Amino acid sequence: MTEPVLTIVVPCYNEEEVLPETMSALQRLLKELMDEALISQQSKLLFVDDGSKDGTWELIYKEGLQNSMVKGLKLSRNVGHQNALLAGLISAKDLSDCVVSIDADLQDDISVIREFILKYYEGCDIVYGVRKSRETDSFFKRSTAQGFYKMMKRLGVDLVYNHADFRLMSKRALNELQRFKEVNLFLRGIVPLIGFKTDIVYYDRLERKAGETKYPLKKMLAFAFDGITSFSVSPIRFVLLIGFISFLMSLMFGSYFLTLKFLGHTQTGWTSLITSIWLIGGLQLIAIGLIGEYIGKIYKETKQRPKYIVDIDTFNLGVPRRLLD
Ligand code: UDP
Ligand code: MG
Repeated sequence: MTEPVLTIVVPCYNEEEVLPETMSALQRLLKELMDEALISQQSKLLFVDDGSKDGTWELIYKEGLQNSMVKGLKLSRNVGHQNALLAGLISAKDLSDCVVSIDADLQDDISVIREFILKYYEGCDIVYGVRKSRETDSFFKRSTAQGFYKMMKRLGVDLVYNHADFRLMSKRALNELQRFKEVNLFLRGIVPLIGFKTDIVYYDRLERKAGETKYPLKKMLAFAFDGITSFSVSPIRFVLLIGFISFLMSLMFGSYFLTLKFLGHTQTGWTSLITSIWLIGGLQLIAIGLIGEYIGKIYKETKQRPKYIVDIDTFNLGVPRRLLD
């Protein structure tokens, strides 16, 4: 068996601070793996520039001119982590036997990639990197993340616990991934749906080497909400249930107050009346909002807009002439 061609895909958004270190670390690793004859000499690093506003693309591009191992995919604008990652995976797929995705910040232990490859040799199509502990994350991030996984599980969505887009996928698995056409992309939910032989490799998550997190609280919450509403209709059923219960309750209250009225206590009831108006109104607004969220998703999906647009692809197409001058 000839060694598999590995491509490591790294989405980057404003990562100029950490990128030089990431590039040299990954290059060293790739060379080691080649020397051990675990992967083919054709293996590459593919850095996806997700519309960065700093010097990220220049770094990738210049490194690529000096080192044929380094390739770049420049997207036309910022499309977010998940879409940028998908762009890299799809672009890398045809020229690779397997692809590893990893963040640019070196928070994931890159030496684990060797174990990914060994699992690939054992016949795995998907290998998940899972964090052993979350000590380097803040207490807040740790507990919100835990709550999120628990909730997803209760909603019936199959997620790999503590796994964050650090994984190996075979060409076969990537071909299947490409058949998932949804615009609202939540890779962590989709990849387990592919199936095939999978395995998990555990590692310790480190501190971000440099630069800042691109996932502030607001984005994190949006990501979680997207994850839930893209994969489960349970929330909408829950709203239906609440609506049903409050309807029953209002029937009960209604008959209670009617009885009071007939007994002559007409003064009372104003408080309960006004509270129930607010209560029901609130519930209705929540319900409408939630339904709106799903309709919005359907609206987006029906348009089938491209998830990303490639500007420059030095991986498949080489370096355009006009950029060499
Ligand atoms: N990223 C991206 N596009 C974005 C935001 C982030 O490609 O719009 C990349 C980023 O450069 C990094 C990865 O996605 O390689 C994960 O982001 P980050 O490390 O900031 O997230 P965290 O680890 O803090 O959740
Ligand atoms: Mg990170």
